[in-house]
Amino acid sequence: MIRENLERVRERIEAACQRCGRDPSQVKLVAVTKTVDVERIREAILSGQKCFGENYVQEALPKINALGPGLEWHFIGHLQTNKVKHAVGAFHMIQTLDRIPLARELEKRCQGREPMPVLIQVNVAKEPTKFGIPKEQLRGFLEELVEIRGIVIKGLMTIPPLCEDPEDARPYFSALRELRDQMAPFLSPPHSLDELSMGMTSDMEVAIEEGATMVRVGTAIFGPRPSHKPQ
Ligand SMILES: *Cc1c(COP(=O)(O)O)cnc(C)c1O
Repeated sequence: MIRENLERVRERIEAACQRCGRDPSQVKLVAVTKTVDVERIREAILSGQKCFGENYVQEALPKINALGPGLEWHFIGHLQTNKVKHAVGAFHMIQTLDRIPLARELEKRCQGREPMPVLIQVNVAKEPTKFGIPKEQLRGFLEELVEIRGIVIKGLMTIPPLCEDPEDARPYFSALRELRDQMAPFLSPPHSLDELSMGMTSDMEVAIEEGATMVRVGTAIFGPRPSHKPQ
């Protein structure tokens, strides 16, 4: 079932790429495994999936340890500063950098290690209940971030408001892409804003049409999640 689901998701990604003339190899599928146990993650691995996303450090660490090397783990939840020391050795990317103290903690904990690739979470819709920085603050945020060692900026990430119709999410995705286009010239290597992490089960096609380079998909691969955990 997970194998078929994954195939269907890959087909959805390919079809969306085809419609807008993009190369499917430019869109990374991050399989979101919050609440999913190791056995079911193994099924996804056996079907060729290598990149996974988790929302909670404590939930993720035993899974990451159990599943071993050769996989890529992205942190996609709200990262508490006191969890950074555990996250650093386990995750390959933090997609939700949203404040300077978190970047400073990453700097501290990445000393003597490879710098941590990060995406900056942007609250495009300015929802008070969501994390992420408002887009007006991105310029200043980037200026502060480039002074901090231990991180490499790779791009932007957003979670749009819940939309009935995936088309309703389009303006948020295009806004993130436009913001990226405006801000990218202010960065120089190793930093860049090449990556745009946007799109989930319900709206991945729209996100891809608007330039997503990473889609974060849980439900379409693993089925509905048991209960309602806050994100
Ligand atoms: C849970 C989650 C997803 C996956 O959502 P689905 O609708 O199940 O595909 C994607 N991104 C984030 C940040 C999440 O918390």
